[in-house]
Amino acid sequence: MSQIGFIGLGIMGKPMCRNLLKAGHRLVVYDILPGPVAELVEAGAARGESRRDTAARSDVIVTMLPDGPDVESAVLGAGGVLEGARQGSIVVDMSSISPMVSQKVAAACAEKQVEFLDAPVSGGEPKAVDGTLAIMAGGKAEVFEKVLPVLQQMGSSVTLTGPVGAGNVTKLANQIMVACNIAAMGEALVLATRAGLDPEVVFNAVKGGLAGSTVLNAKAPMVIARNFKPGFRIRLHQKDLRNALLAGESLKVGLPLTSLVQQMLMSLMNEGKGDLDHSAIVTFIEGMAGIEVKKGKAAEA
Ligand code: NAD
Repeated sequence: MSQIGFIGLGIMGKPMCRNLLKAGHRLVVYDILPGPVAELVEAGAARGESRRDTAARSDVIVTMLPDGPDVESAVLGAGGVLEGARQGSIVVDMSSISPMVSQKVAAACAEKQVEFLDAPVSGGEPKAVDGTLAIMAGGKAEVFEKVLPVLQQMGSSVTLTGPVGAGNVTKLANQIMVACNIAAMGEALVLATRAGLDPEVVFNAVKGGLAGSTVLNAKAPMVIARNFKPGFRIRLHQKDLRNALLAGESLKVGLPLTSLVQQMLMSLMNEGKGDLDHSAIVTFIEGMAGIEVKKGKAAEA
C-alpha cells in the first residue's frame, strides 16, 4: 500500500479519501479548512501540517481543488507541494482545470524530477462516495500504470486519454455535454409544465427513450423536488465552461451552445445562486417563462 497525500477535502475530496482509507492506504490529508481535516483524522488519516509537509510524507500526492489558480498556488506556490515532494514521487491532480495549466504545472514538476498526471473525474458526489467515478487521465503511460491501483479505489472507469492535459480536455468535453443537457432538460420541463402537464409524468414517459440519459435521471428528480443542494456547484460549472471557451479560442473552435449556457450560469451567479447545484440552470429558463417546474399542478411563479 502506498503512502498517499491528499490536498482538497471538499464535496469530492472527502469521500475519495474515505475510499482510499477503506482500501487500506495510509493517508496524510490537508485542507485550508480545519473541519474536513478533523473528520478524516477521526476516520484514520494523518494530519498534514501544510501542503509542503503533506507532500514530503507521501509517494503519491493527490490534489482535488476548485480551479487552476488553486492548483498552481498549492503545487507551485510558497510552502506548496513542490517544496516538499521527493524525487520520483507522483502528483496526481484530479481537479477540473484548464489543460494549459496542467501542462504548466507538469513542466515545473519535471524540473524537480517529480512526475505529474492530470486525472479529473466525472460522476459527482454520489459516485465519489461509491468509488465509481469515471476518471480521465493525461500523462506518461508508465506513470499512469504506477498509480492505476490507487485510482481504481476511487473510480470504476479509469482511462488514459493521452499526454498531460488530455485528461482535462476530455473533462471539458464532458462538461459541455452535461451543461447543455441540463439546459435542454430545463427548456423541455418548463414547456411541459406550462402546457399543464405533471413534469414527473413527462420525465417517466421519456426516460426510457432516446432522450433518456444519466444527466436526466440524476437531475430531473432534483428539479421536480426543488432540491438544489450541491452536488456540483453552479460556480464550478461556470468555471469549466469558461475553461472550455478559452480552450476553444486557442484551438480556433466555435462553441456556440457552450457559450450560451456559460452566460446563463454567470447570470445565475449574479443572482446569488453560485453555490446551488447545477440542476438550478433550470431556474434561468423558469425565470423567462415565469413558471416553476414542480410535481403536480403547474404553479405560476
Ligand atoms: P469544493 O469547493 O467542495 O472543495 C474544494 C476544497 O479545496 C475545499 O475544501 C477548499 O477548502 C479546498 N481548498 C481550496 N484551495 C485550497 C488550497 N490552496 N489548499 C488546500 N485546500 C484548498 O469542490 P469540489 O466539489 O470537491 O470540487 C473539486 C474539483 O472537482 C473541482 O475542480 C470540480 O470542478 C471538480 N469536480 C466536482 C464535482 C462535483 O460534483 N462536486 C464533480 C466532478 C468534478
